[in-house]
Order: sequence, then C-alpha cells, then structure tokens
Amino acid sequence: MDNCIFCKIVNKEIPADFVLESEELVAFDDIHPKTPIHILVVTKAHVASIKELENPELAGEMVMAAKGIAHEKNLDGYKLLFNVGREGGQEIDHLHLHLMGGK
Ligand code: AMP
Ligand code: ZN
Repeated sequence: MDNCIFCKIVNKEIPADFVLESEELVAFDDIHPKTPIHILVVTKAHVASIKELENPELAGEMVMAAKGIAHEKNLDGYKLLFNVGREGGQEIDHLHLHLMGGK
C-alpha cells in the first residue's frame, strides 16, 4: 500500500534493524523503544489492524514468532501487545505486535 511506512520497511525501501524474516512476517526493533527490548512483529501483507484481520493463522504466527524471538533474547517474561484503532493507541495502520521486555 502506498505511503504506509511498514509496507516500505517490509519492501526494504526504508531501513530497519530486522531480527526475523519469514514468508509471512518480518520483525524489527522499534525506533522509539519503550522497554530495553522492544520489537515489532509485522505482517508482510498490508492489513490495517486486528479489526480487519480475517486469517486467524496469521495472528497465531505473529504470537509464535514473538515467542521465538523472546526465547532467542533470553527474555524470561515479556509483554505482547496489539494496539487496535486510534482509541486503542494504534498510530500505524499496518498490523503489528509489540514484543516488550528486558531489564
Ligand atoms: P502503534 O502505536 O501500535 O501503531 O505502534 C507503532 C510503533 O511503531 C511505535 O512504537 C513507533 O515507535 C514505531 N515506529 C514508527 N516508525 C518506525 C520505524 N521507521 N521503524 C521502527 N519502528 C517505528
Ligand atoms: Zn502497510
């Protein structure tokens, strides 16, 4: 989708620090980390938010990808967060899961 910053990151038109790339997903460091480890797991497909998501497998893959990254980073505990819609704190209308943790 034009003018979507996460589509541009997925397409490598804008740089990001990737920690994972799979067929369906990428993951990269949040540019303004709110915790010592703050990674975004992002769908390659442009889906605006959880509200527009129709494929439950994709949500499952996102959670499992975040869990794998947390394991690689030796995080014992962490938060997984979907902001949904403006009232839910979502600023970028391209589906992403926040993985937040670390001391
Ligand atoms: P949300 O409020 O759930 O839409 O979260 C969007 C997140 O994207 C915020 O935590 C931002 O810091 C992060 N963000 C915005 N632009 C970039 C970027 N170019 N690279 C990495 N993270 C970004
Ligand atoms: Zn997009």
